[in-house]
This record gives sequence, structure tokens and C-alpha cells, in this order.
Amino acid sequence: MIVVLLGPPGAGKGTQCKRVADRYGLVHLSSGDILRAERAAGSELGEKAQSYMDSGGLVPDDVIIEMMVGAMKQAEDSCLLDGFPRTVVQGEQLDKALEQSGGKVDAVINLGIADEIITNRMTGRRSCTKCGAVYHIENLKPKVEGICDNDGEVLVQREDDKAEVVANRLKIYYEQTAAVVDYYKNAGKVVFDIDAGGDIEDVTVAIVKSIDGLSATEAVSG
Ligand code: ADP
Ligand code: AMP
Repeated sequence: MIVVLLGPPGAGKGTQCKRVADRYGLVHLSSGDILRAERAAGSELGEKAQSYMDSGGLVPDDVIIEMMVGAMKQAEDSCLLDGFPRTVVQGEQLDKALEQSGGKVDAVINLGIADEIITNRMTGRRSCTKCGAVYHIENLKPKVEGICDNDGEVLVQREDDKAEVVANRLKIYYEQTAAVVDYYKNAGKVVFDIDAGGDIEDVTVAIVKSIDGLSATEAVSG
């Protein structure tokens, strides 16, 4: 099964994917996490992506598509996609690649949220560079301030979560990514619109309900 999680940066895609992926035996594939790992490893791909990421822009489609289609093959097309596709071209290219391997996107979950909440979530986000865990200075605090619960590493604010970059990322979302929702709706995909403004647990419950409903429908239709 392939489920795509859409929504603006800071909507809670990564947080939710971590909470639900195992439940459905899906691999959580976050294009942002993969790019950050490439950067940390100092790879050519990571270097290529760096300037786009730090300014809040999008990494070129061809680079992302090759990276994500490769990652999906490794996950045997059983995945929860987070942060990809982020342009209509990426959505089209993903569908083309899946068509060739006999797969398809099974469902799309679209996290909707107001801009003011997003800004608070992004500027308050703190991340562990070692294990990738994500916290928030008010909404999801670690046990010890500034320290990762999992490994004791110091938590950092991502360069692209600083206030001056956040505004650009939101602008890019509306200009280039929001249209991906309509791309899937027009293609007749099942799209679940979920209010992501509530508590973390409430959003998880809504996502689980959607995916459970989908599995039940597929079981009935065979
Ligand atoms: P995305 O992956 O969509 O960019 P994240 O999952 O990293 O977003 O969440 C962004 C920030 O908001 C993180 O600091 C996270 O702890 C916090 N957060 C996520 N979901 C919620 C929620 N429902 N309520 C409050 N804070 C949240
Ligand atoms: P994220 O962790 O999803 O917020 O992504 C962080 C940054 O990585 C984005 O602001 C982009 O610069 C880059 N990125 C992640 N996913 C994509 C994608 N699908 N297409 C283009 N750029 C991406």
C-alpha cells in the first residue's frame, strides 16, 4: 500500500507518520529526512540540495524523483510518503514510475491547517540530528529541556525553521505544492481532508480512521 501525506511544512506530517507507519507495516519515507541524511553524510546529492533547502526553496524535481523512486523500490512500494510529491510534476512522474511497476498511490491524506499555527509549529520545532526525533518547545517538550529523550543529544533548530525562512517556505507551499491536492482529486484518488490544527492524538485518530476505512473498502471490493 502507498499512502501520501500532504500538507504545508509544519502541519505535522512527520509526527503523524512516525505514529502510524508501524501500525500498517508501512515504511515512513520522508524526502526531507532523506535529504538531511545525505547532507550529513556529505554526499554529492546532499551538497546539491543544500542551498535550496537552506533558503526554503524546493530541490529540483529530477533530483527528488530519482531519490524517492529509489527509496520506494527499497521499501517494496509499501510506504507512507511524507513531503513527496511536492509539485504536480513530481506527482505525475511518481504515477508514471508506479505504472511501470504495476503499483499505484492508494490514498492521500491532506492535513489542513491555518498559517498562524504553522508558523508557531515550525519556529518552535526542535530536532535531534542524531536520531531524527522531533519535539516542540511548547507542544511536545523533551523530558529535559533541549535534550533528546532517545539519545541525550542536544536538540537544534533547523536552519529552515528560522522565522525568516519559514515565510518563504509557506509561500512556496502555496505556489507549488498546494496544487498537488487537486492533482490527486482530479485523478479520482481517495483524498482524506483532515483538520491538523488539533492535538497530536486527535489528528492520529482521524488518520487511523481514514486508513482503516480504506482497508475495509478494499477488502469489500476485492
Ligand atoms: P511536518 O513534518 O509537516 O513539517 P512536524 O511533524 O515536524 O511537521 O511538526 C512540526 C512541529 O509541530 C513539531 O515541532 C511538532 O512537534 C509539532 N506538532 C506536530 N503536530 C502537532 C499538533 N497536532 N499539535 C501541536 N504541535 C504539533
Ligand atoms: P521537509 O523536511 O519536508 O520540511 O523538507 C525540508 C526541505 O527539503 C524543503 O524545504 C525542500 O528544500 C527539500 N525537500 C523536501 N522534499 C522535497 C520535495 N519533494 N521536492 C523538493 N524539495 C524537497
